[in-house]
Amino acid sequence: MSDGVRLALTFDAEHPDHPHCPPGNAERILDALGEVGARATFFIQGRWAQSDPAIAERIAADGHLIGNHSKYHARMTLLTDDGIRTDVRESEQTIRDLTGVDPRPWFRCPFGDGSDDPRVLRALEGIGYRNVHWQVEALDWDAERDSEDVERITLEGIAGHGDGAVVLMHTWPGSTGDALPRILKQLAEEGAQFAAVDELESLP
Ligand SMILES: [Zn+2]
Repeated sequence: MSDGVRLALTFDAEHPDHPHCPPGNAERILDALGEVGARATFFIQGRWAQSDPAIAERIAADGHLIGNHSKYHARMTLLTDDGIRTDVRESEQTIRDLTGVDPRPWFRCPFGDGSDDPRVLRALEGIGYRNVHWQVEALDWDAERDSEDVERITLEGIAGHGDGAVVLMHTWPGSTGDALPRILKQLAEEGAQFAAVDELESLP
């Protein structure tokens, strides 16, 4: 049970990892969030937003918090400081152009890679970002897991963490598109409150 907890659902909005991604999945996710009035956080990959500007625009129009998920989704630890700055700023410009929103200070390292690397974090900080990691992972990127797995793993993870959980999901897996309405309904029935990461007191 997740009685009365506050939690942040976060979605990495990016090019899919594998071919099993139904068209319209991101829209379904936005529909489900809208139905229960849940504000979430979307970390947008610049290159993805360029290829599908209407979804990026809608994420902003729906009032969700927007963060930066890099331009090319490279591993930050493989880039030089200059490379990190260039990639992240390019993505920032794309996000601003498309949504009118400045994603700073919110950033999520692709694959979480670099989230514990002081050099990467310093480079990000130098251009106005703080990385937001997660404590609960839906494991929705795994094509072997269906929507029931994603629902169970997510709800158990949130209940296990308690108040203030940051939950990692993705916009492209069909399992998340299917599971999210059920996850939201269950959490809402338990009195959970949905917050964006800018509303939580402490972040991973
Ligand atoms: Zn990603």
